[in-house]
Amino acid sequence: MRSYRLAVIAGDGIGPDVTAAALAGVEAVSRRFGFTVETTDVDLGAEAYLRTGEVLDEASQSTLAEHDAILLGAVGDPRVPPGVLERGLIVALRIAFAQSVNIRPVRLYPGVPSPVAGVHPGNCDLVIVRENTEGLYAGGGGLTHPGTPQAVALQNSVTTAAATTEAVEFSFRLAAARRGRLTLCHKTNILTHAGRLWQEVVDEVGARYPQVERDYVHVDAMCQHLPLDPGRFDVVVTDNLFGDIISDLGATIQGGLGVAASANHNPRGSAPSMYEPVHGSAPDIAGTGTANPAAATLSAALCLAGLGEHDAAVTLEAATASVLAELPALAGTAMGARTGELGERIAARAADIDAAVVADPAGSLLSALAGLAPAPAEARG
Ligand code: ATP
Repeated sequence: MRSYRLAVIAGDGIGPDVTAAALAGVEAVSRRFGFTVETTDVDLGAEAYLRTGEVLDEASQSTLAEHDAILLGAVGDPRVPPGVLERGLIVALRIAFAQSVNIRPVRLYPGVPSPVAGVHPGNCDLVIVRENTEGLYAGGGGLTHPGTPQAVALQNSVTTAAATTEAVEFSFRLAAARRGRLTLCHKTNILTHAGRLWQEVVDEVGARYPQVERDYVHVDAMCQHLPLDPGRFDVVVTDNLFGDIISDLGATIQGGLGVAASANHNPRGSAPSMYEPVHGSAPDIAGTGTANPAAATLSAALCLAGLGEHDAAVTLEAATASVLAELPALAGTAMGARTGELGERIAARAADIDAAVVADPAGSLLSALAGLAPAPAEARG
C-alpha cells in the first residue's frame, strides 16, 4: 500500500482548527483511494517561540526534513514582533528545503461569489508562480543612524539566473500541461537590471517550449488586468514580492482569504514541499470557530497532487468546492457552520462524492502538478 509521511505544523490562532479540517479531508480520501498518511505534529510557531525563545530549532528542522511533505496551518501572534516568524520560520524553511516556487491557484468555483463583477468560473482559473527564495526577500541591507533624521535604510533585492531559471522552467512545464500560455509579470521598465535577467531567462527557456504562448505584463498593469480580465491568464510567473502582492489580489477575486491555497514547492523533490493556506493566524477570530477551512483543505489537495495522488487531490478539491457552493457566506458567523463542522462536511463529501461531479477540467492545476510530481523517495535517493 502506498504510504506517505506528513509533518504537520498546526501553528497559531486559527491554524490548529483549519489544519484539523484539512487532515480530516486527507484521511477521507486516503481511505477511499487506498493509501496511508502517517502524520507527525511539529510544534513551531508563535506559541512555541514565546515558550522556548527559538523560532526554528535544529531538531525540528531535521524532523521536517524526514517527511514527504509539510502541512502548515498558520503562524503569528501580536505578541511576536513582525518579521521574527515570517523570516525565521517561513522564509528559512523555503530556503532550507529548496521550495523555489510558490504556487498560488486563483480559481473561482461554481456557486462561489466573486466580489468583482464579470468574474465567473469560466474565466477565472489561473496559477500564479512566485519565485520563492530571493528578490527583496533575500534580506540584505541595513539601517544606519536609526531614529535620527539622517536614517538611511537599504533593502537589497537579489535576482540570480539559477533561481529565476528554476521558477521559469517550472512555470513553462506547468503551462505546457495546462492551457499553454505563460505571462511574465515584472517591472522591466523601471527595475531594468532584474527585469532584463527575468526577460532573458523567459526567452531562453521559452525557446524550448514552442507550444507555450508568451506574454508580458507590468506589475502595476496586472492590478488592472487581473480583476477585469482574469481569463487572459493561465500561468503567471513573477518575482517574490510582486507575487506576494498580486496573489492577494487573486485571492480577493476568487472569494477571499478563506478559499485561497498555496504550495511552497520544491520542483526537484530534493526536500519536502510545504503547503499552507494564504491567510495568516487571524488572531481577531481565533477560537471563535468562524474560520473558513476551505483554504486549508484546498492546500491539502495541492499537497496530495504534489505527492502524485491525483484522484485523491481532485476529489478533495471537488468536495471542498461542493461544500463552498452551499455556504451563504465565505467567512464569519454568516457561513452558518463552525470550522470543525465544515471540515467534517468536506471530509464526508470527499468520502463519497460522485466521480462524475468531480470537476477536474483537462489541464487543471492539480492534474498538472500530479503529472509533474517527482516521487519524493526516488528523488531523494
Ligand atoms: P497574521 O499576522 O498571522 O498574518 P492577520 O490577521 O494579519 O494575521 P490574516 O490571518 O491573513 O492576517 O487575516 C486577515 C483577515 O482575514 C482577518 O480579519 C481575518 O479574520 C480574516 N481571515 C483570515 N483567514 C480567514 C479564514 N480562513 N476564514 C475567515 N476569515 C479569515
